[in-house]
Amino acid sequence: MGKKKVVMDMRGNMTRKDRQMSDADARAFLRIHAMASVGTSDETGWPYVVPLMYVYEEGDRCFLHTGGRGGHFLSNIRRNPKICVTVSASGQMQQGSPSPCDSALVYQSAIVFGTVRVCDGVDLEEKKTWFFDRLLDRLGDSRENYSVGYTMLNRIILYEVAIEILTGKINVGLHH
Ligand SMILES: Cc1cc2nc3c(=O)[nH]c(=O)nc-3n(C[C@H](O)[C@H](O)[C@H](O)COP(=O)(O)OP(=O)(O)OC[C@H]3O[C@@H](n4cnc5c(N)ncnc54)[C@H](O)[C@@H]3O)c2cc1C
Repeated sequence: MGKKKVVMDMRGNMTRKDRQMSDADARAFLRIHAMASVGTSDETGWPYVVPLMYVYEEGDRCFLHTGGRGGHFLSNIRRNPKICVTVSASGQMQQGSPSPCDSALVYQSAIVFGTVRVCDGVDLEEKKTWFFDRLLDRLGDSRENYSVGYTMLNRIILYEVAIEILTGKINVGLHH
């Protein structure tokens, strides 16, 4: 019998514990942002990271959408629904001394590992409406600012991500 291969799972195990946000802070960060970089992989192992808007409200679910035609993203997740969602916000660059290496970038970010599925069910239109209402809200807009509602709901795909691991990281910079 051959030796069993040990696979190391690095997910969620942050090396800089001093920069790790609390779970509550990471969730609060996810709640106020809307733009993510979403990583998938294809059958040959090529990673594909695509910018997509997302909505996170609470619990262990977040939501994404794409157009209904299908493409690289949909093709990847149909084969492998494991995805990685990164959200980041960068602040000022604080100049340190004497070297640029002593400088610091203020930032916050969150990384989600999860499993994605295409939403369906009898209440799908309701779910899509909920998603876009939340998304408009994040973007400082509202359905009420328009004379008609969402006219293309049947042309989009809504995805639900079951969050398995969520971490948040913060760099408060030099002056704290
Ligand atoms: C800030 C931002 C937010 C976005 N939010 C959404 C969203 O919420 N929903 C949505 O449907 N789309 C959004 N888009 C567009 C999105 O990034 C994709 O282009 C789109 O979802 C199609 O993805 P696909 O994998 O089906 O594309 P496909 O056309 O199948 O991709 C084929 C190839 O085209 C190239 N490609 C695809 N998208 C991009 C891109 N954005 N930039 C450069 N090259 C690309 C890649 O090489 C990819 O392999 C957003 C774009 C930006 C920049």
